[in-house]
Amino acid sequence: MSGVFAGLKPESLWKHFSRILEIPHCSGREKSLGDYVIGEAKRLGLAWKRDEAGNIVVSKPGSPGKENADTVILQGHLDMVCEKNSDVRHDFSRDPIVAELKDGWVQAKGTTLGSDNGIGLAAALAVMEDDSLAHGPLEFLFTVDEETGLTGARKIQPGFLKGTKMMNLDSEELGTFTIGCAGGADTEITLPLRRQRAGKQGRYLLKIFGFRGGHSGIDIHLGRANAVKLLARLLAELEEQTPFRLAVFEGGNKHNAIPREAWAEILLPETRVAEAQALLMEAFDKIKIEYQAVEKDAAWSFSKIKSRGQDPLSPASQKSLISLLLALPHGVLAMHPEIAGLVETSNNLAIVRLKPTRAQITCSSRSSIDSALRAVRLIIRAVCRMVGAKPHQPEGYPGWMPDLNSALLKTMQTTHQRVFGKPASVVAIHAGLECGLIGEKFPDMDMISFGPTIQHPHSPEERVSAKSVEEFWNLLAAALSSLS
Ligand SMILES: [Zn+2]
Repeated sequence: MSGVFAGLKPESLWKHFSRILEIPHCSGREKSLGDYVIGEAKRLGLAWKRDEAGNIVVSKPGSPGKENADTVILQGHLDMVCEKNSDVRHDFSRDPIVAELKDGWVQAKGTTLGSDNGIGLAAALAVMEDDSLAHGPLEFLFTVDEETGLTGARKIQPGFLKGTKMMNLDSEELGTFTIGCAGGADTEITLPLRRQRAGKQGRYLLKIFGFRGGHSGIDIHLGRANAVKLLARLLAELEEQTPFRLAVFEGGNKHNAIPREAWAEILLPETRVAEAQALLMEAFDKIKIEYQAVEKDAAWSFSKIKSRGQDPLSPASQKSLISLLLALPHGVLAMHPEIAGLVETSNNLAIVRLKPTRAQITCSSRSSIDSALRAVRLIIRAVCRMVGAKPHQPEGYPGWMPDLNSALLKTMQTTHQRVFGKPASVVAIHAGLECGLIGEKFPDMDMISFGPTIQHPHSPEERVSAKSVEEFWNLLAAALSSLS
């Protein structure tokens, strides 16, 4: 193969990956990539079907002599997260992703690469066309729209798959087997607000920023601050001593990200400004000390802005909003009692927006135990009830309970030991995987998740280790043979 991937192994995997880079496939727009998969199935004379959601299954008979082995499913998601640096010109709906090889890593130029889950897909396509591998009957499951809400996996109908062993190829650390994940569910809270004209007062912007944020599942136990919670806390401190009126409160922008910044517009009588500023500075300094080990770049600003804008909230609405933000839980709520280091239950107070007559607040809760997830949602409902807010709680997605006695896990460990001379580490993660939803529809499915080493997925810094792709392939090929 010529170009960026020349010399990388296995050739057929990289050939498919380079095709995938050329086909736009942001979440919700995976149709063309699905068509490519179906085109490959047709070219190879393999049976395929596509459901209403756009999920595809391709079936391949076992290799000679292995036709009667158990069916194994290889699964990956067709969509990718499309993010780019602001100084890059790139139209994700049209332009191919431009990849480069740097120090053994494949990455894109200022955009996400889509190795999550493009490498998994390319591996499946390579297995599909490879006649030299030993394997039992295979099903290749390609799902849509994993990244924005697992909606493809959610819509799979029972009967779509025959196999009872599934390899999810969407993990990001070679040498690790994932055998469990958390379930999750969001709450959308509406707090009705009244606004009331204030007398002549100056308008000030209070902003806190520079926090590390991160993924609300994977990074929730790292002690990072939630800017929304801290801003609410600063305003509560201020309220105790200096009368002010709140007009704007905003923070956070994604349900699955810890808020990195938040800001408020407050109205103050000119005579109390110096006092308020001194109090805020003192309170923020204390917070900085509290978080000094983690939030080194935390900063705040306080400045006068033009005096026109939204009327401030009524004193009662202001109290309700600040109380609600203070009381809603954030962070780790329980650690798993048996699996060291695994967060069992958490909540992220993710987004706050103020409209003229209401506040919109999003919480994202996770747990590896369904009943514990339900308990967090009850707490959120109770807090809402106390201030007259309305919680909307759409159905979430289920977790995947680790099964340390899984037969598939045993075979995979033996294979890993044979290929690499050591066992893989076995983990469960505090984030969602499609396995939770697939396990719910197919209760007898034995599942495992693994993949090559991918760093910084979902960001323009995303990169995949070329060497790990080759080793991932060796493991996959050996595992298919062991299972046949
Ligand atoms: Zn993924």
